[in-house]
Order: sequence, then structure tokens, then C-alpha cells
Amino acid sequence: MKKGLFDLSGKVAIVTGGNGGIGFGMAQGLADAGADIAVVGRNETKSIAAVTELKARGVRAISVTTDVTDKDAVVAMVERTVRELGRIDILVNNAGINIRKPPHALDIAEWDSVIRTNLTSAFLCSQAAYPAMKQVGGGKIINIGSMLSIFGASFAPAYAASKGGIVQFTRSCAVAWAADNIQANAVLPGWIDTDLTTRAREQIEGLHEKVLGRSPAARWGAIADFAGIAVFLASPASDFVTGAAIPVDGGFSIMG
Ligand code: NDP
Repeated sequence: MKKGLFDLSGKVAIVTGGNGGIGFGMAQGLADAGADIAVVGRNETKSIAAVTELKARGVRAISVTTDVTDKDAVVAMVERTVRELGRIDILVNNAGINIRKPPHALDIAEWDSVIRTNLTSAFLCSQAAYPAMKQVGGGKIINIGSMLSIFGASFAPAYAASKGGIVQFTRSCAVAWAADNIQANAVLPGWIDTDLTTRAREQIEGLHEKVLGRSPAARWGAIADFAGIAVFLASPASDFVTGAAIPVDGGFSIMG
């Protein structure tokens, strides 16, 4: 199939947290557009299952078991991707966690864990991938924010801080690396049906109905809703789009 502006054949993408949820939805879209994929996560069993599914779409895929909060492990992950897949064109910084407590109940270890997983990891992966992108003449960085990049929530102080930080980190990379033909953008998902939000629905009473009531689209998002935005932001179609923070939320963030 000729994909023109959206063709990713010959490109290589790293997707952190690509073994499930939103990251897997993005990895599937990138693979369908022709990109080879390095799936990065801690749970090797989940990653191997994702790799098998991606390979069935006709691309190369590898599992690189990595804790993205560990700088040495991230550097090794990037080196292995270049060694086995030949180059890096696309980096999706998607790995993330939440610890749901109000600010007065969150301890410093919990704060650090959320900030390191959601924000510091994006810095570590972007910094490690930058030389490889420069070497191939450009690249695409896609960082995953949240509705809590925009709003506050009583139950998510570290998460909201990390996701607000992701937007500003994205803008900084967009400015710093524009001369290298690297575009960096953030995607802000609304409420999406994944393992992360299954736990949220258990912990926050009435959440399911509240999301439905506030969303013009009147549904929760699915991981398949992230294939298109990933392909757009990874492809030449978005070459003049950089530093943007794009909600993919069924209208949740514009509902008055
Ligand atoms: P999941 O829990 O399904 O996925 C999280 C992914 O992150 C897993 O693949 C996990 O892999 C990986 N991960 C977590 N910690 C690490 C780590 N230290 N090192 C490597 N990988 C790690 O959640 P979602 O798909 O929902 O979330 C994906 C992203 O989307 C997150 O950044 C989240 O904040 C964001 N988001 C989600 C929303 C939603 O409604 N679902 C809304 C807004 C934002 P493994 O277990 O193998 O380590």
C-alpha cells in the first residue's frame, strides 16, 4: 500500500511502555505504517507477546527489557536498538504510573517514583536517542501527557506535576533540536480504557459515569484511538508541527 505522507517504511521507533495500553495502540499504528519497533518495558512476558503481535503486521520488532528510570539501562536500550534495528527515527515516551493520594498523604518515595517514571524517563530516553536521530538527519519525539497536564486533581499531585512537566520538557526539546530537524510534540490522552484506569475506576467512586457525563464523545477512549495520532506525529505529515500539546480526549478538555 502506498502511504505517501504517512509512510514510515524503513523507519525505526522506540516505544516505552509499548507492551500494553496506549503505548501498544501507538506501536500498532506505527507498525501498520511500516515502522520497525523496539518495545520497551519491564515485564518481558508482556513485551514478547506485543512483539509477536507487531511482527504479524509485517515489520521487525524486538523486546528490550528496560526500567526507563535507570540511566545506564536506557543508554543500553538505545544502543541495542541501533545495533539490532539499525537506526532510530521515532521515540515515544509513554511509560507511566500513578499513585493516587492527596498531597498531604503522599510520601517522598512515592513522589520520586512517579516523577522519575513519568518525567525523568522522558529526559533520559530523549537525551540517549538524540545522537542517533541526529545521525539520520532528523527525528520525531512523541511524549505522553494527560488531562492532568491541564487540570489539577486532588488525588494526583505527583502525576499532575509530572504531566505538566512533560509539556514544558516537550517545548524545550522542540526549540533546542529544531535545527537538527527533530520535532517534539506531546499527546494528552483523555480517559482511556487501560490497566492504569481499571485501577482508577476501582479507587475513585463514580469515575466511570463522571467521564461519560463530561465527554462530548460520550465514551471512554480505546487504545486504537492512539494509532492515528502516533502515525501523524511520527511521519512527514507533521514536519511543521513541533512543541504542540494535542488532546486526544473525545472533547473532554473543551467541555464547559
Ligand atoms: P498501562 O499501565 O497500560 O501502561 C503503562 C506502561 O508503562 C506499561 O507498558 C509498563 O510496562 C510501562 N512502564 C511503567 N513503568 C515503567 C518503567 N519504570 N520502565 C519501563 N516501562 C514502564 O497504562 P496506560 O497505557 O494507560 O498509560 C500509558 C501512558 O499514558 C502513561 O504515561 C499514562 O500516564 C498516560 N495516560 C493514560 C491515560 C489513561 O486514561 N489510560 C490518560 C492520560 C495519560 P511494564 O509493566 O512492562 O514496565
